[in-house]
Amino acid sequence: MTAVCVFCSSSQTIDQRYLELAADVGDAIARRGWDLVSGAGSISMMGSLVRAARAAGGHTIGIIPEALLALEVADRESDEFLVTRDMRQRKGLMDERSDAFLALPGGIGTLEELVEVWTARSLNMHHKPVVVLDPWGDYDHLHALLDHWRERGFVRAEAVAHVRWTTQVDEALECIEAPWPDVPGS
Ligand code: AMP
Repeated sequence: MTAVCVFCSSSQTIDQRYLELAADVGDAIARRGWDLVSGAGSISMMGSLVRAARAAGGHTIGIIPEALLALEVADRESDEFLVTRDMRQRKGLMDERSDAFLALPGGIGTLEELVEVWTARSLNMHHKPVVVLDPWGDYDHLHALLDHWRERGFVRAEAVAHVRWTTQVDEALECIEAPWPDVPGS
């Protein structure tokens, strides 16, 4: 059994197509028989993701820090609803419960979650797939920044190669499924 942790937007001011993307991802994960680990949000892409996964018969594991519970936007319908002391404990539990990480478009919360698992993989602290699904170029500026940092010598090409970039839902899930050797020289 594979458990995929999905990071995505909690914003309520984004285009409808992002909610549909999140729903397609939740549906596709559940149809593969995989568990879904999420931040237990019930709004925006986070909510679309988990509702679609459950509608397709999937098992959802929602992990939320106490402080966010107060916002009353928690996905209390999660099959496993886990409340943590703080963000750090939440992240530890998300890592522990997940076999792979998938980031969709999002804001600074999503970026921070992606960069954390990516950095850890590039330092060989874990060997789980880290995949980004970016159908509409929302990460284009990050690519430009990485190119710039690579040129200036701050970032090794091998470190960048620890993330797989995709534009289609199936492609993203295939990246998670396919054997993915560690990058040599990293
Ligand atoms: P952002 O990409 O800035 O929209 O942030 C998304 C991340 O913020 C999520 O993965 C969570 O860590 C956190 N977050 C924001 N709002 C909520 C919420 N209502 N429930 C759970 N987590 C949330």
